[in-house]
Amino acid sequence: MTPDRFDGRLALVTGAASGIGLAVATHLANLGATVLLNDLPGDALERAVETLPAASAVAADLSTRAGALELADVASEVDILVNNAGLQHVSPIESFDPNRWDLMLALMLTAPFLLIRGIIPGMYERGFGRIVNISSVHGLVASPFKSAYVSAKHGLIGLTKTVALEAAQREVDVTCNAVCPSYVRTPLVEQQLADQARIHGVSESEVLEKVLLSSNAVRRLIEPEDVARAVAYLCAPESWPMTGTVMTLDAGWLAH
Ligand code: NAD
Repeated sequence: MTPDRFDGRLALVTGAASGIGLAVATHLANLGATVLLNDLPGDALERAVETLPAASAVAADLSTRAGALELADVASEVDILVNNAGLQHVSPIESFDPNRWDLMLALMLTAPFLLIRGIIPGMYERGFGRIVNISSVHGLVASPFKSAYVSAKHGLIGLTKTVALEAAQREVDVTCNAVCPSYVRTPLVEQQLADQARIHGVSESEVLEKVLLSSNAVRRLIEPEDVARAVAYLCAPESWPMTGTVMTLDAGWLAH
């Protein structure tokens, strides 16, 4: 991949103040794209923008319809849309807070729908667009106690395939794909390590080895930059034949 591959391209990455989103925004910016970084308003977003060559912050709470619609409006000119913002909540279904369910579905399924809905017409008009939805290995298989997360991530794959088929009918170069990582070294996972270590009274390294990495064939955490490289690959003009696909970066989880 040449360093100027995304010169002249405008990209929007949601949840870009941290983890995978920040790595994706950084990688696309380093490859020449102008990047709009979305996240909740706050210092983390401002700090993230300052580290990048050509970037601006577009704060919005994507768990609200108003926030997602406003962002879709502000970012209607983007060539690349990466739906990444997300969060995890672990609870047995019988005590799963319905408000938490609503929030997670709004953030991880409804917001991508609203953003694609608002942004894809511009991609059709300009004849080019790349949409990458960050799903998860939990978009393809379940784990107990993650009902909202697993449901949202499965739904996001359905949305990905539907959008890919609709875009294909337009005969323009607009693709839509999903990326499905297993555990990536980000604050979202570091928090789970700390929580589970506390609950089980064991060390974080034990939780990592015996719980988090137990389904991986390769017993290693994925780095955010590994995901960023996969996203950039899908965003390249040459990746036009890849649409409606699910790219797994699961360290062999699904090979079992
Ligand atoms: P992270 O917590 O480091 O980053 C998530 C970002 O989303 C944060 O900056 C957060 O502020 C932002 N966000 C949360 N609520 C928001 C809202 N209402 N509006 C706007 N932004 C909001 O997590 P991460 O691990 O980098 O996760 C990024 C994506 O990757 C998520 O969709 C997650 O489900 C997915 N994913 C993560 C892993 C993993 O192991 N870390 C694996 C598979 C998929």
